[in-house]
Amino acid sequence: MRSATRLGDLGTEQAYVVLGAARELERAGHAVVHLEIGEPDMPTPPHVVEAGVRALRDGRTRYALAAGVPELRDAIASALAARGVRASAENVVVTPGAKPALFLAALALIEPGDEVLCPDPGFPIYESVVRFAGGRPVYYPLDEARGFAPDVAAIAERATPRTRSLILNLPHNPTGGVAAARDLEALADLAQRHDWWVISDEVYGRIRFDGRPDSIAALPGMAERTFIVDGFSKTYAMTGWRLGYGVMPAWLAEPVTTLLINNVSCTATFVQYAGLAALTGPQDAVTGMVAGLRAKRDLLVRGLNAIEGIRCAVPAGAFYCFPDIAGVLERAGLSCEAFAARLLVERHVAVLAGTAFGPGGAGHLRLCYATEVPQLERALAGLRAFVRGVAAVPA
Ligand code: PLP
Repeated sequence: MRSATRLGDLGTEQAYVVLGAARELERAGHAVVHLEIGEPDMPTPPHVVEAGVRALRDGRTRYALAAGVPELRDAIASALAARGVRASAENVVVTPGAKPALFLAALALIEPGDEVLCPDPGFPIYESVVRFAGGRPVYYPLDEARGFAPDVAAIAERATPRTRSLILNLPHNPTGGVAAARDLEALADLAQRHDWWVISDEVYGRIRFDGRPDSIAALPGMAERTFIVDGFSKTYAMTGWRLGYGVMPAWLAEPVTTLLINNVSCTATFVQYAGLAALTGPQDAVTGMVAGLRAKRDLLVRGLNAIEGIRCAVPAGAFYCFPDIAGVLERAGLSCEAFAARLLVERHVAVLAGTAFGPGGAGHLRLCYATEVPQLERALAGLRAFVRGVAAVPA
């Protein structure tokens, strides 16, 4: 027996492989610092949990309308105003997480043979779903000198007559980069000139430290060619609830809903009521989390930059930093994959190699700093000792 060949087009996330290796070490009795998996370390806010439980008790246990509970679609559309996006419920399709919204976008927008511009380094699932939909991912680099902002000129250079879509992820996983307002405008102009779709993954949209929420869909002429992918996992610490959404032109929401009906029918009804409470209730848990993340970011970036051979830009958003460790790798004669693997086995610090996010990640690591401060301090101590051991600077 054999499976369909299309399964061979799918990629995966290295984070789960490293998590598996870290769990093995824990089973053997070691205490591991987890900086590999990208999820908030705070619990879901209690009023959100309460709303979910109440919804179950109130009998919200049946199918919901396929595109989502109307009150939630309304609330999502209203919340987008904070990023300058004008939307109404008819633009919103609720999904079981942001990832399914991304999958729907790929299946709905990409024709076989289409070239799709994807960030490198970038979330590995972009390349995977583009290939699965029959498209060809074309990497564009980020400008490390400007905090990993998208490099507009480099994107323009990669445009061909086959280019159909541009994937943006701002704030960006794995680097925490954001775009300056004028870059976003230049990208919008490029998309309109070439008649591209923009798939804009904004799952970290509320986690930025410059207090300037934005979206390319807010710019003139962009709502009609942008598919926003977003969700509740990161902002409201709801990774296990599985709740996300796509925001798109109203005419597209209908066929996308048909895709959803063919796949999951609808998103869990009680979970949608929890999401409604998250969006419409107090936001202090989010504000508190972002303030806490900022302090953790500063601690980690300072500690990394104090290690000989490591340079780390200050990330503007999300909860990752992406240090350049090329200086250390060169002295030690290691690849970033070997460095990450040995750091885990020898010092019990779990991080991801930059290349888990594409070839552009070579020479880097990704560290998720959404964890307790003592864990970050342990990670820094482990890194310092490891670097001293493998790449001692000759006297
Ligand atoms: N997009 C990016 C850039 C992510 O980092 C993640 C999660 O790691 C997702 C999408 C998926 O989020 P969700 O848990 O809502 O499916």
